[in-house]
Amino acid sequence: MEQLKSNKKVPFLPQDIPFNDDQRQWLGGFLAGLHTRLLVKEEHVTTTSSTTQQIKPLTIIYGSQTGNAEGVAEEVAEIAKNHGLTPQVQDMDDVELDQLCQSERLLVVTSTYGEGEMPDNAQALWDSIASDAAPRFENTYFSVLALGDTNYDDFCLAGIQWDERLEALGATRVANRVDCDVAYESLAQEWIAETLPTIAQKGSHGGHEVMPAPTPATNKKAKPKYNRDNPFEAQLIRKFTLNNPDSDKETCHYELSLLSSGETYEAGDAINLLPLNRPELVEELISLLGARKEQHEQYDGHTQTLQKIFTEDLEIRIPSKEFIAEAATRSGDQSFIAHVEEGTAALTDFLWGLDCVDILKRYAPHAFTASDFIRLAKPLAPRAYSISSSIKQHPNEVHLTVASVRYHQADRAHHGVCSTFLADLIDSKSKIKCYFAPNKHFSVPHDPSSPIIMIGPGTGIAPFRGFLEERIATKADGDNWLFFGDRTKANDFLYQQELEQMQENGTLTRLDLAFSRDQKDKIYVQDKMRAQGQALFTWLERGAYVYVCGDAFRMAKDVDKALHDIIEQHGSMSSAQAQEYIARLKKQKRYVRDVY
Ligand code: NAP
Repeated sequence: MEQLKSNKKVPFLPQDIPFNDDQRQWLGGFLAGLHTRLLVKEEHVTTTSSTTQQIKPLTIIYGSQTGNAEGVAEEVAEIAKNHGLTPQVQDMDDVELDQLCQSERLLVVTSTYGEGEMPDNAQALWDSIASDAAPRFENTYFSVLALGDTNYDDFCLAGIQWDERLEALGATRVANRVDCDVAYESLAQEWIAETLPTIAQKGSHGGHEVMPAPTPATNKKAKPKYNRDNPFEAQLIRKFTLNNPDSDKETCHYELSLLSSGETYEAGDAINLLPLNRPELVEELISLLGARKEQHEQYDGHTQTLQKIFTEDLEIRIPSKEFIAEAATRSGDQSFIAHVEEGTAALTDFLWGLDCVDILKRYAPHAFTASDFIRLAKPLAPRAYSISSSIKQHPNEVHLTVASVRYHQADRAHHGVCSTFLADLIDSKSKIKCYFAPNKHFSVPHDPSSPIIMIGPGTGIAPFRGFLEERIATKADGDNWLFFGDRTKANDFLYQQELEQMQENGTLTRLDLAFSRDQKDKIYVQDKMRAQGQALFTWLERGAYVYVCGDAFRMAKDVDKALHDIIEQHGSMSSAQAQEYIARLKKQKRYVRDVY
């Protein structure tokens, strides 16, 4: 046997060893193999210690719309180090498919947004991996963590698609995909605890895989100090309504104090609030369940009063899918049962605007006990709001712009949980539990001279007030263009004075307004964009960043369509070329959306 590049020799088997030929051959091979492994390992340690210490590389890619999946991916990376892994976290937009397929250990963390869509930063990579030309992943061990919201159709679809596609391309699943609802933290922890030790045992330890370039440290934000289990309590400083009293809408501005929290944020980040349920709703539900508020029940491993569980812990307004299905069965109502069987879209129409109390009253009076309800309800999830201030303009403060959800249905007044918790239940003596949700890519450009185009009707204005304040505070000299819209100019021109002042003093280079109900035919922000298509395209060619905030289901789609059309028309491009143009903008983080 040839001697390896070492002065150490292959173990020698003496001639007189008492084994037959087969045994000698097997043992010789075994010792030679062991010897080779030891040498390779030794060699690897000496030759790689100066260049890379990546003994067991782990690639973690994330698809994230609001920053949650990105946050989880960073957390996975931290914990992975304890398992002897060398993790590399990558934005899906920065991933090259031919490099990805060489990863031996791959974890995918992705949210789903809108109606089962990929997050913006995942679309291009998904298009490549979903295509027939995608490479094989035969040497890859993987697992997927999917973030979603069971209230939406196609719950966690993006994660499901990644999971199925990687398997179809030959990758080996090391741990089952976990699909998380809005309160994703504990399930995510379980997935991490199962996946990391398993994947750490897989693959070679030599690290011949091509590692992506490390993310520059400057891009990293410090991990927020507070979280869902450890929120800080912010005092309300000020609140006022932004609409005129004659408006049929109620959008409020809130200012919260961050004093003594030691916490900070960037313009464009969001904040999660932990609301409480309304006392009258708690009482009504307890009474419908034939229970008493002092009654003790088990929840989350503790015995607590119903009052506490229903006020602080459970989503008691929006019915969970499990509660709806059980209510249909117990009601015996054939129409209700048929709609449940038909699926989410039909059911959403059938139960439109109804809350748990309506469903109990209408379909299943006396059919549930309090413990039944507790078993079927979802935890009360935090509500994320885009921050509408810059901390540079308002030290120790965070501002929010929130539309109060109020409507009448089934002969009862209905109140959105968090928006009316803020509007009705919070005063200057109250404290609100909250924690920040960083959104790294939804931020003003690093280059202060870059032009920005902001499209934000309704509460979509929120982050752009923050952006404009940030641009003023940092003396950024880039041009700023805002498209804003709402129902009527007289009643719904949110932050009118501030915006007009910014227009006068030149902070706002352009302000285009679309008041939808001021004329017979609706005018929306995308109509204003089209009307200014030539100028908009010129701004894009000058390197402008485009930001969209607000309704995901109609507005963001229509705005996206308008942008494609504008690029096609004013850039003299085919539809495919315009699509490529937009894909490039997205990859460069020059077209980013915070939509809900
Ligand atoms: P909105 O009232 O839904 O709409 C604002 C403006 O956009 C109106 O002029 C509306 O016109 C127009 N519009 C409607 N369809 C459009 C389309 N396809 N394209 C472009 N513009 C369109 O906005 P909002 O005040 O932000 O809405 C509040 C709702 O958002 C609440 O119901 C709440 O559930 C939800 N929400 C709010 C927050 C928050 O407050 N931060 C967070 C999450 C969710 P018309 O109405 O005249 O058609």
